[in-house]
Amino acid sequence: MIQFENNIEFARQLDEQDELKNFRDKFYFPTFHEKIVRYFTGNSLGLQPKSVASYIQQELEDWQKYGVEGHFMAKRPWFAYHENLTEKVAKIVGAKPIEVVVTHSLTTNLHLLMVSFYRPQGKRTKILCEAKAFPSDQYALESQIKFYGLNLADHLVEVGPRAGEQLIREEDILSKIEELGDELALVMIGGVNYYTGQLFDMATITKAGHSVGAIVGFDLAHAAGNINLQLHEWGLDFAAWCSYKYLNSSPGGVSGMFVHERHANKPELPRFAGWWGHDKSSRFMMEPGFKPMQGAEGWQLSNAPVLGMAAHLASVEIFDEAGMDRIGKKRDLMTAFLEFVIDEISERNKDRVSFELITPRDKTKRGAQLSIMAKGQGKALFDALSSEGVVADWREPNVIRVAPAPLYNSFEDCYWFGQLLEKAIQ
Ligand SMILES: *Cc1c(COP(=O)(O)O)cnc(C)c1O
Repeated sequence: MIQFENNIEFARQLDEQDELKNFRDKFYFPTFHEKIVRYFTGNSLGLQPKSVASYIQQELEDWQKYGVEGHFMAKRPWFAYHENLTEKVAKIVGAKPIEVVVTHSLTTNLHLLMVSFYRPQGKRTKILCEAKAFPSDQYALESQIKFYGLNLADHLVEVGPRAGEQLIREEDILSKIEELGDELALVMIGGVNYYTGQLFDMATITKAGHSVGAIVGFDLAHAAGNINLQLHEWGLDFAAWCSYKYLNSSPGGVSGMFVHERHANKPELPRFAGWWGHDKSSRFMMEPGFKPMQGAEGWQLSNAPVLGMAAHLASVEIFDEAGMDRIGKKRDLMTAFLEFVIDEISERNKDRVSFELITPRDKTKRGAQLSIMAKGQGKALFDALSSEGVVADWREPNVIRVAPAPLYNSFEDCYWFGQLLEKAIQ
């Protein structure tokens, strides 16, 4: 374990030793604040890879040149564009290629997956989720329950932190699963909580859900490209994520879907269908009678939005080059360094402000995000930070979320965050 020091020489030394240091230069940094921007919101919208423009340009040119024939004549033919992404994305999330498809957007995919995997029947009708889930997930779960004419209060079971605590104890999730038993239809949780940054043990929760006969799915919006996922091995039934947070693939960019191999060859699974999920070999016969493709591809509805996918392809090639192993190592070291810096600034200024880090301090229970609860100063402190060029994220009532992204943030960024935080306090 390295003994950290909160000074610029030490931060620069860590940057010098960083195997991924050259990746920073593959990204554009915003210039909208007057000072040098210290960007810590890769958990909300990742920065633009410089290579994105040429990937999109390629498709614009092929569209100019070929019109509709681009579906087959483009350099990367559009009819199969999503296939360029499958293997690389599968690697990022620890899945087999047949288990992954890139398509639609995140909330849409959650619904499509729940149509297949939330099938309330007889006693087994309840959904378990975490309290304070991301609002889109809350609305999706609520509307799924109401869609079946069921009553929300009885069917959505939330597990929250105990009184006076910020984090959810996994044992409380497991005992709730046990307690619900054969009334539990679905467990649907955010793999990393967007607010606290808490990472859940997906393998253990999945096992517990399966042991009572429930289906288990995760929303990985804050986990994909951040956590070293092993979705196949962990055995989740399904998952979905967006590509614009840690995966840096353009605002509102395409989403990824995971459906475990055990469901790959079940054409009888009910689902909402569209032509892109239909058996590829007979898709263009345009005949009635839906025959789903095997694997996750069988959940596609529509042909690929190629421009958004081009941005995603540029980005996943960077991930492929860096590798999730190295990204994970840097994530843990850099997050720990930022934690150390914040602790030191907080200790030094404890007569003025009180900070509580609500993200787990155990690095196996978090990714690249620290959520700081600022008691007493809150929004004014955040505004002062912003005016110094720090791009972080404010969540009511008093939480500042900071995410050092391993691909483009530096240890020096973390050092400066501390300096500017101290200036803002004073
Ligand atoms: C970011 C995020 C979303 C956003 O959903 P979109 O459909 O992409 O707008 C949904 N759920 C979670 C948990 C998120 O973090």
